[in-house]
Amino acid sequence: MGLIVQKFGGTSVRDRSRIFNVARIVANTRKAGNDVVVVVSAQGDTTDDLIAKAAEISANPSDREMDMLLSTGEQISIALLTMALQELGISAISLTGWQAGFATNRAYTKARIRRINTERLESELARNRVVVVAGFQGLNRNDDITTLGRGGSDTSAVALAAALHADRCQIYTDVEGVYTADPRKLPKATKLKEITFDEMLELASLGAQVLNNRSVELAKKYGVELEVLSSLNPMPGTVVKEETKVEGMLIKGVAKDENVAVISILEVPDVPGMSFKVFSLLAQRNINVDIILQSSGRGNNKDLTFTVPLTEAQTAISVLEENKNRFGGGAISLSTEYAKVSIVGAGMQSHSGVASTMFEALFNQGINIHMISTSEIKISVIIDKTDADRAVAAIHDAFIH
Ligand code: ASP
Ligand code: MG
Repeated sequence: MGLIVQKFGGTSVRDRSRIFNVARIVANTRKAGNDVVVVVSAQGDTTDDLIAKAAEISANPSDREMDMLLSTGEQISIALLTMALQELGISAISLTGWQAGFATNRAYTKARIRRINTERLESELARNRVVVVAGFQGLNRNDDITTLGRGGSDTSAVALAAALHADRCQIYTDVEGVYTADPRKLPKATKLKEITFDEMLELASLGAQVLNNRSVELAKKYGVELEVLSSLNPMPGTVVKEETKVEGMLIKGVAKDENVAVISILEVPDVPGMSFKVFSLLAQRNINVDIILQSSGRGNNKDLTFTVPLTEAQTAISVLEENKNRFGGGAISLSTEYAKVSIVGAGMQSHSGVASTMFEALFNQGINIHMISTSEIKISVIIDKTDADRAVAAIHDAFIH
């Protein structure tokens, strides 16, 4: 018994039968003697549909009005779910983000939560009600509605769990937890019992779209243990926490990311300040550079090769072309036929030979590595896109049994 925050994503409340399914999960949690705060997303594709509606009116709608529009999706879900709970005989009340006390900064469409004034929430809980809160939304200092960015309901749930000192924060989705690889691509991938915040952050940024990244950062910051589980299959999910038992699992997951482009600048003068010039140009445009490779000097020149998200590649190329003369004016090339395959595991910090096992698995498949990068808990390789699925399977076999 205690206070439990339960978050349900859009597919979990998609239609009448899914809403009653969620209501039953909440009702059971309540009947077991817990206080329950529920956070919901907009139903199904509602948010995408609203974005499409805005696009019918304007190619460049104002951010304030986008938030006014998008916040309506969650408001539908809270009302319908609360009605369903009441149908099941559960005392419940819905609250919008602002009624629930979410104060955010001014940044429309990507607002950050400043604090949560939990007074109203706590008084409703004291009246023995289940409180159903709209995710993804808050109010800024002008009393204008803001939203937290796509997938922001996870963040709402974690922030509430932290503010209310909840005993548990459960994130219900349409997958059964976090897997060692994408189970749709690799059926033998297994569900993890536990994963650390840091591992989850790496995997999320590598494209394991289970939890919104910011929600994991927040959970780590406030020490909120998360449980990711399915709203459709009642079985234990994956717990995300600070530290996990090291039961011999060196690698928690193998991830593939096709959102990568490789850019090369040839014949950059081999003098101080060149990397600074190139990467500060990209930083000014908020382009995320990931792996960087610099060749050793040949004569008076060197080559710079680096990766950026595919979605930012054209912007990167145009800013580099415009400013070419500032760093020597060598040829700039872009390749989009690559993928990044990575292994993640806190266990590799205390083990040697992890990289060589990965490279051996690739060698056995005849797969060529173009670039490599490592961090304390991650090793990534850039390889041909056409080799990526085979690489994931081979590496998975080498580490996970
Ligand atoms: N409805 C919002 C979205 O689709 C927020 C969320 O689902 O978490 O991005
Ligand atoms: Mg959604």
